[in-house]
Amino acid sequence: MIVLKSENELAIMRAAGKIAAETLQALREHVKPGVSTAELDQLACEFITKRNAVPAFKGYHGFPGSICASINDEVVHGIPSKKRVLKNGDILSVDVGAVYKGFVGDTAATIPVGEISSDAQKLLQVTEGALAAAIAQTRMGNFLEDISGAVQDYAESRGFSVVREYVGHGVGRSMHEEPQIPNYRQGKRGPKLKPGMTLAIEPMINEGVWETRTLGDKWTVVTKDGKLSAHFEHTVAVTENEPE
Ligand code: MG
Repeated sequence: MIVLKSENELAIMRAAGKIAAETLQALREHVKPGVSTAELDQLACEFITKRNAVPAFKGYHGFPGSICASINDEVVHGIPSKKRVLKNGDILSVDVGAVYKGFVGDTAATIPVGEISSDAQKLLQVTEGALAAAIAQTRMGNFLEDISGAVQDYAESRGFSVVREYVGHGVGRSMHEEPQIPNYRQGKRGPKLKPGMTLAIEPMINEGVWETRTLGDKWTVVTKDGKLSAHFEHTVAVTENEPE
């Protein structure tokens, strides 16, 4: 069942989303060569906690971090570590979740570390563009597949591939609610979009093949061919007018 949020609930989700977004923004300034992903994790935890919210990922199915920090060929779910020190030319995907008054805000971005290659820049631009194309379809009366198809068309027409094993999701009192939101067409329209739906839309786009594998830590997802991957995410509310 897809849970529709009331105006009051949307107001809380707006606040939760703002905390997650501001945390991600605050981390950006600290993403530079020589910084470890554990340091970023610590900063995020402090930032979220100071705003009377709770890091949504910490302890989720046993995940040890407050953020996911995924470098280069890591797609998602990288575990923050003192041993993972950023280098010039890396790309870092940071995923932030904050629970505020019982509701979750979920957002992610891939951030360049120092000077990155033009190929890496292109991947980031295309992934962010795919998210924007998807959000533009997140409108009352459209279908879920319009969101999925927008990501797929945008990324594949530019020569990139779409991760299939991991998808976006409804979000609210739980981090993962219905519906699942694949970033590719599944040959069915899926549910019709209605005001009050709140969706975490999150294209994961690869430079090479779409296939992934999971490392021995049972969390970190990497591209099968070792090429780069990027990830951008916003929590979006369907309204009677523009997507919010
Ligand atoms: Mg998410």
